[in-house]
Amino acid sequence: MILTIQPLKLTKPYHSPFNSISTTILCSTSNNKKAPFRRRKYNSSRRSVLKKTFIQEQVKFTAPVSDDPVVAIIGGGMSGLLCALYLEKRGVRSTVFDTGVHGLGGRMGTRIIDPHPLIFDHAAQFFTASDPVFAELVHDWCLRGLVQEWQGTIGELQLGGQFTPLPSSPPKYVGVNGMRPLADSILSQTHMVDVVRPSWISKLEPFNGMWHLSENGKPRGQFDAIVIAHNGKCANRLLSASGLPLIARQMKRLELSSIWALLAAFDDPLPVPDSSGSPFEGAFVKGIDSVSWMADNTRKILKPKDVGPHCWTFFSTAAFGKRNKVPQENIPTVTAERVKETMLEGVEAALGLSKNSLQRPFYTRVQLWGAALPTNTPGIPCIFDSEGRAGICGDWLLGSSLEAAALSGIALANQIADYFTSNGSSPEEFSVGLQNEFQPLEGHDIGQFPGLDLQVSKSIKLLMLQRLINSMPAVHRRLLIQVTGHKISVGAGLHCEKLVPVLAFLVATLGGTS
Ligand SMILES: Cc1cc2nc3c(=O)[nH]c(=O)nc-3n(C[C@H](O)[C@H](O)[C@H](O)COP(=O)(O)OP(=O)(O)OC[C@H]3O[C@@H](n4cnc5c(N)ncnc54)[C@H](O)[C@@H]3O)c2cc1C
Repeated sequence: MILTIQPLKLTKPYHSPFNSISTTILCSTSNNKKAPFRRRKYNSSRRSVLKKTFIQEQVKFTAPVSDDPVVAIIGGGMSGLLCALYLEKRGVRSTVFDTGVHGLGGRMGTRIIDPHPLIFDHAAQFFTASDPVFAELVHDWCLRGLVQEWQGTIGELQLGGQFTPLPSSPPKYVGVNGMRPLADSILSQTHMVDVVRPSWISKLEPFNGMWHLSENGKPRGQFDAIVIAHNGKCANRLLSASGLPLIARQMKRLELSSIWALLAAFDDPLPVPDSSGSPFEGAFVKGIDSVSWMADNTRKILKPKDVGPHCWTFFSTAAFGKRNKVPQENIPTVTAERVKETMLEGVEAALGLSKNSLQRPFYTRVQLWGAALPTNTPGIPCIFDSEGRAGICGDWLLGSSLEAAALSGIALANQIADYFTSNGSSPEEFSVGLQNEFQPLEGHDIGQFPGLDLQVSKSIKLLMLQRLINSMPAVHRRLLIQVTGHKISVGAGLHCEKLVPVLAFLVATLGGTS
C-alpha cells in the first residue's frame, strides 16, 4: 500500500473562527505494498505556532471504505455502548475502548464496598424514557432483568424538612444491582463488538487510509472510522492534534458543571419525612447550597430494608461544586473533609433536624465529578465529519441525561452506517453538526428527566406559600412585601421563626410573576 500524505497542501481550506490558516492532509491508500509508518514531523517552533493559533490540518480520507469496516469507539459510557450496539444492528464491527477499571459505564457508576457489602450509585441515579426508541430499549432491558422500575417515592425536599412528592410521574428506571451492572450488560449479546478496558487512548493518527490508535505509545489497532464518546479535558487533549479541527472546535465549546458526591453509610435509617406512610427514597433538595439531591440506595436497589447498613448518595449543587473545585484525581484531604462536613450539615438542615443531631455515618467517601454535566448543547443528536471519518456522541449533544446519551449513540451509529453504505461517495452529504451553535441547557443540577415534572405543581406551591405567609407576624409580612415588591394577600398573622429561608423561598417562588 502506498501512502499519499500531503501535509500542508491547501486543497480545501478550513476557515477557522480565529482567522488563521489551516490545511488539509489527504490520506488515502492504494493496493500496493505497505509503506513504513512515518510520523509527521513538526519542529517545536511550528508546534507552538499551531498551538497559539489553533491551526490544525484537516484530515481527508479519499480511499473507498473497506468492505468490512471497523469503528473504534473511545468511551464506554451509555452513548459509546449504544453506538456499538446499533453499529452491530447495521452489520458494522466496532471496538469499544474505556478507561473503567471496575467496569464500563462512565457516569453510570456503582460503587460496591466489601465486605458489608455497601452499594452506591455514585453518578446517574435513575432515568425516564420519553423517546419511543429509547423506551423500547428500556422495555427490553426490563425483560432481560437489567433494569427495574423504581417504585419508591421521590419528590422535592425544602430546607427544614418539608417534603412534597412529585405530583405525577412517568415510570422511573434504575439498574438492577445498580447502574454499572446495566452498562456492563448492554453489549453482552453482541457478536461484532470487542471491548478493551481499562484502556486510555492517548493518540489518534490518520495514516494509510486508516485511523491508528495508541495508548501511551502502545499501538491499539487501526480503524476505518473513529467515535469520540467522551468529553471534557480528555477529549479536548485527544482532539487537539488529531487533524479534526471542526470536531475539535465543537468539543471545545462544551461547558461542564462540577458536582461533589458524598457516599455515606449509616447504621440506622435516616429520619426522612414520611409521605403517605412510606419514607421517600429520593429527593431533589431545594434551598441548600451544599446538597441538591439525596437518595437511599439501600431501598432503591436492595428494596425496603429497615436494618442497616443504609447507603445514601448525596450530591452538591453545581454552584457548590464550582466554588469548591480542586483537581479531581488529587483531592486534598482538608478539602475532602470540609466538603464532607458541609454536605452532612446540609443534609441535617434539609431534613429539618437540630444541629449535630444527624447520626454519624460509619462509612463516607467524597468524590468530585469535575466534568459532571453539560450546561450548553448544540442540540443535534450527533456530530460527524465524513471527510475525517470521525464522529462524536454523548449526552451533551441533546441534553444531560442517560436518555440523551443513548439517543446520541444510536444517531451516530446510523450516520456512520449510512456513510459506509454510500461507500464514501459524496461525503459532504454525511457531515453533520460541525457548525451548529450552542444554546444553554436547562435542567436540574444532576441532569434532565424527560417527562418528570420537577416543578412542584403551581397549586401546591400556592398552598405552601399561603401557609407560610399565614404563619408570619404582620411586621415580617410588611417587610416581605417591601423586600420582594410583591403584593400578597395574607391571612391572620401567626408566628414564623425562619424568616430568611421563607423570604428566599418566596422570592424564588414568585420571581418573575406580579
Ligand atoms: C453526579 C451526576 C449525577 C447524574 N444523575 C443522572 C440521573 O440521575 N439520571 C440521568 O439520566 N443522568 C444523570 N447524570 C448524567 C448521566 O450520567 C450522563 O448523561 C451519561 O451517563 C453520559 O454518558 P456518556 O456516554 O455521554 O458519557 P460518559 O458516561 O462520561 O462516558 C464516557 C466514557 O469515556 C471514557 N473515556 C474518557 N476518555 C477516554 C479515553 N481517552 N480512552 C478511553 N476511554 C475514555 C470515560 O472513562 C467514560 O467511561 C448524572 C451525571 C452526574 C455526573
